[in-house]
Amino acid sequence: MNLTNLCFHGIGEPERYLEPGEARYWVSRDAYESILDLVVGRPEVRISFDDGNRSDIAIGLPGLLERGLTATFFVLAGRFGKPGSLGRDDVAHLRAAGMGIGTHGMDHISWRGLTPSGVRRELMEARAQIASAAGTVVEEAALPRGQYDRTTLRHLRALGYRAVHTSDRTHAAPGAWLQPRFSVTATDDAASVSTLLIPQPLTKRVERRAAGLVKRLR
Ligand SMILES: [Zn+2]
Repeated sequence: MNLTNLCFHGIGEPERYLEPGEARYWVSRDAYESILDLVVGRPEVRISFDDGNRSDIAIGLPGLLERGLTATFFVLAGRFGKPGSLGRDDVAHLRAAGMGIGTHGMDHISWRGLTPSGVRRELMEARAQIASAAGTVVEEAALPRGQYDRTTLRHLRALGYRAVHTSDRTHAAPGAWLQPRFSVTATDDAASVSTLLIPQPLTKRVERRAAGLVKRLR
């Protein structure tokens, strides 16, 4: 069964200045929670977070834990400890809570056309710093701004990354090295995201509806 990879960026109110065009990737807490409700009981939907915003741990993590969900957090080493961003302790905390930790690089620059020193900083040093914060190896990367070319991918392969996550808005094959994702945007809600999910057999839908009913009655 193909996968639907959903990618969140920020949730709620940003606590730092946003980059131009970034606001459209911030979602409300209500939208986030209603989208998570949709994902419960659907193992073919995978969740990730990019950019290492504070909201990952303030809103993202509690929402996942309440629903028994997990996600992978692609964090930025260059923002560790900056206002509005995760600190190294937060990354360790996410890991201890059973979440995956990946790299989104150092400075949130495109990985297209990196110089040799850019490759070292973005693909090697950032990875090492994130691994040290998380206390685990980092084997997955998410491409900043979703940008890449053949050279980017060649570097990532040579460095032994086990999976690379894009923002190409299509479904993914399980186990594929390149994992396209759908970024959730400010105008999304459970209804718009449900159109991205691959239809499931009826029995599963009924079970899921029953599970939702139990939750509402609690
Ligand atoms: Zn990003």
